[in-house]
Amino acid sequence: MPKLSIRDLSLEHKHVLIRVDFNVPLSEDGTQIMEDTRIRETLPTLEYALRHRAKVILASHLGRPKGKPNSKMSLRPVVDRLRQLLDQHLDQSVNVGFSPDCVGKTAEETTCMLESGQVLLLENLRFHAEEEKNDPAFARELAKLCELYVNDAFGSAHRAHASTEGITHFVEQSAAGLLMEKELNYLGKALRDPDKPFIAILGGAKVSDKIEVIQNLLGKVDALLIGGGMAYTFLKARGQNVGKSLLEADKLDVAREAMDTAAKRGARFLLPVDHILADKFAADAHTQAFSGNGDFPADWMALDIGPKTIRLFVDEISRARTIVWNGPMGVFEMPAFAHGTMQVAQAVANNTVATSIVGGGDSVAAVYQAGVAEKITHISTGGGASLEFLEGKKLPGVEALTEKTS
Ligand code: AMP
Repeated sequence: MPKLSIRDLSLEHKHVLIRVDFNVPLSEDGTQIMEDTRIRETLPTLEYALRHRAKVILASHLGRPKGKPNSKMSLRPVVDRLRQLLDQHLDQSVNVGFSPDCVGKTAEETTCMLESGQVLLLENLRFHAEEEKNDPAFARELAKLCELYVNDAFGSAHRAHASTEGITHFVEQSAAGLLMEKELNYLGKALRDPDKPFIAILGGAKVSDKIEVIQNLLGKVDALLIGGGMAYTFLKARGQNVGKSLLEADKLDVAREAMDTAAKRGARFLLPVDHILADKFAADAHTQAFSGNGDFPADWMALDIGPKTIRLFVDEISRARTIVWNGPMGVFEMPAFAHGTMQVAQAVANNTVATSIVGGGDSVAAVYQAGVAEKITHISTGGGASLEFLEGKKLPGVEALTEKTS
């Protein structure tokens, strides 16, 4: 059932509480913003609300203050940066205020004084333990501040917290922001109605983290390309000894089952056919290339995919029309083992006719590292949330939004 979008709301002169993700990295002392991508990503939604003369109240979490105020995790430093970004983006000066508490008397009084076209940022929601507990009384307090609620924090949508789920029970209309809508549109279309061939490239450390994604995608993709540490549990399940490579011995059965299901459903299940082996898990390890189905030398571990696998994967990627990528192909943090991941990033970027969706902290970092982020159709802002979406789970922060009736 489609959900309301901010574009369906009549915002003028209304107090609109927008749940954003301003969980930005701060300097050690909590005074400087080290990286502001998450703030920039909300600008289209904020611009929309301000141009429609809303009274904009922004709520976010930052870090893990464990339910108590903590000056190193205050959202106060965001105010100046947000003001600068909004001024540039809208080409006019925007009034951005701050409330030192997200609920209670201070928050109520400052929101009352807010005028149309102005912004008020609330202090860190997680300074109250009730936020993560989805406490109804706290959710009601937040709801008191506004007439309309908008969720633009896709990265928090897989958590049922007071500001993502609870609040929706106490406001008349709850809608998706433009960033949230974009995430749902791209990920939703990939699962519902992908242009074919549809391939998923999955990597990263653990089978256990991705197995539900694999199971859900098996009925939908034409091919699954598996790399990274998780590939070695699958290779072991196929009977190959993988030396000291990452192995989840308790996942061999599910790995076998997933490969059987893939065969039954006609999805090609592609595992690495060659590897870069290392004699230890270290940037300066000795390395050797290893190819074929034989057993790995006992004391060596695979830390990257090899050149034949890269060619195989690049060929698949170049022919796809929808590509979902989550998880690196090797230990890409170490230059000696970054090649596979970088080549996959290049290949995804080079396929300009496909819809490419990259999610998860490491693969997103990899496309930036490869310098190809601009050529990716959609870079998801929510690692955990995009994985749960791909697992076919309903996200509480999305489910709770008001359904569109017409
Ligand atoms: P994840 O958080 O599950 O996406 O896993 C990402 C991590 O997996 C990165 O830190 C990589 O260094 C690690 N990784 C990828 N390939 C391997 C591998 N072959 N062996 C060990 N770790 C790996």
